[in-house]
Amino acid sequence: MAAGVVIAGAGQAGFQAAFSLRTEGYAGPITLVGEEAGLPYQRPPLSKGCLHGKQELDEIDLRPAAFYEKQNITLRMGERILAIDRDARRVYLADGEGLEYEYLLLATGASNRRLAGPGALYLRTRQEAAMLLTELEAAERLVVVGGGFIGLEVAAAATALERKVTVVEPQERLMQRAVGPIISEYFRAMHVGHGVEFVFGEGCTEIDDDGAVRLTNGAVLPADMVVAGIGVTPRAELAVAAGLSVANGIVVDEYLRTADERIYAIGDCASFPSRFAGGMARLESVQNAVDQARCFAEAVCGRPRPYDAVPWFWTDQFEAKLQMVGISQGFDCEVTRGDIGAGKFSVCYFREGRLIAIDSVNRPADHLAGRKLIAHGGTTVTPEQAADVEFDLKAAAQYLV
Ligand SMILES: Cc1cc2nc3c(=O)[nH]c(=O)nc-3n(C[C@H](O)[C@H](O)[C@H](O)COP(=O)(O)OP(=O)(O)OC[C@H]3O[C@@H](n4cnc5c(N)ncnc54)[C@H](O)[C@@H]3O)c2cc1C
Repeated sequence: MAAGVVIAGAGQAGFQAAFSLRTEGYAGPITLVGEEAGLPYQRPPLSKGCLHGKQELDEIDLRPAAFYEKQNITLRMGERILAIDRDARRVYLADGEGLEYEYLLLATGASNRRLAGPGALYLRTRQEAAMLLTELEAAERLVVVGGGFIGLEVAAAATALERKVTVVEPQERLMQRAVGPIISEYFRAMHVGHGVEFVFGEGCTEIDDDGAVRLTNGAVLPADMVVAGIGVTPRAELAVAAGLSVANGIVVDEYLRTADERIYAIGDCASFPSRFAGGMARLESVQNAVDQARCFAEAVCGRPRPYDAVPWFWTDQFEAKLQMVGISQGFDCEVTRGDIGAGKFSVCYFREGRLIAIDSVNRPADHLAGRKLIAHGGTTVTPEQAADVEFDLKAAAQYLV
């Protein structure tokens, strides 16, 4: 029997790769190895529906068990790949069992950065979400360390559940890595309007035995519960041990292939060349995981193509759905479209006259048009047109394929 495809990591990217291999017509064995127990699941609901109590943690599986049987995908959940023998094209599981591969896909994701000492909760896995929900039941005062997407989604959910929340953000503004200042300020004001308090420009030095959070300026914030959302580190340990190149993620080429032609890497763990980033990029999003998985499956099925999908992302906080497309870093001109006061607007970012990104708050049509416009180089819309709500972005995008 052919060795088939072995996938290390059964998250969004690993699952999608297995699925897309079958839809692309791959007939060989597929083994999906995931160190978390249970079926592969989606992470976005962990900080949204599940935290709000609107979705159960057992309702977020990507597919039921029967799906994997029907698709002839061998699931090895609760098992971890410990090593790769590139010469023998074999990976080894923790118990020493070896699995041969024709192609190996590294879809190992990322792990949360941690504060120096103990005392904080984190949110990446279903298990961590369960712990967070349990602690939240008894907590009245919450300190969230980190004003990025996950920290702010936790803050919004806890506030909606009538907990008192303080967010500590070491930078000067919220979601700084991903959005421009107008969006940061809109979200700060919206959170404050709901009762969230902020401390900017300070970090957490330690958490006292009684749960209080000590800040870099010496201040102490009392808390019943501390949640840290301070970014992630790509899981590249397998690649490092196998002698593959790693630099903020497992380095791959435009086909998502490592220097070993039999080993690919995708999703949160992969660093790939991106024209949208103007260099190497590592993205943490469902879109990136899913689109890269499709690209990988096509390559294995003999139809390789360079990965070139436009990046997009979303977050839900209070009444705002923020959708982002493109990469706004490095913009030299920004225009606002719509009504900030009414909570329905977009910020369009330009560099050297080209539209490079749009952040939309409750304006999904702008976001969808932006995906096409930016994928096509962003040359067909001027800042003046983008700022004019009478100008139809959708119409401008509709003839772009
Ligand atoms: C709380 C939360 C909310 C989010 N919300 C959004 C959102 O709103 N929108 C959005 O676009 N994105 C969101 N994301 C990000 C998105 O979920 C990730 O970008 C996506 O899950 C990445 O998929 P992945 O498969 O690359 O990595 P992961 O989903 O992390 O999966 C990797 C898996 O590989 C396993 N693994 C690692 N090493 C091994 C090994 N050696 N052997 C076996 N298994 C291994 C890990 O345990 C993990 O289960 C959110 C993430 C979190 C945590």
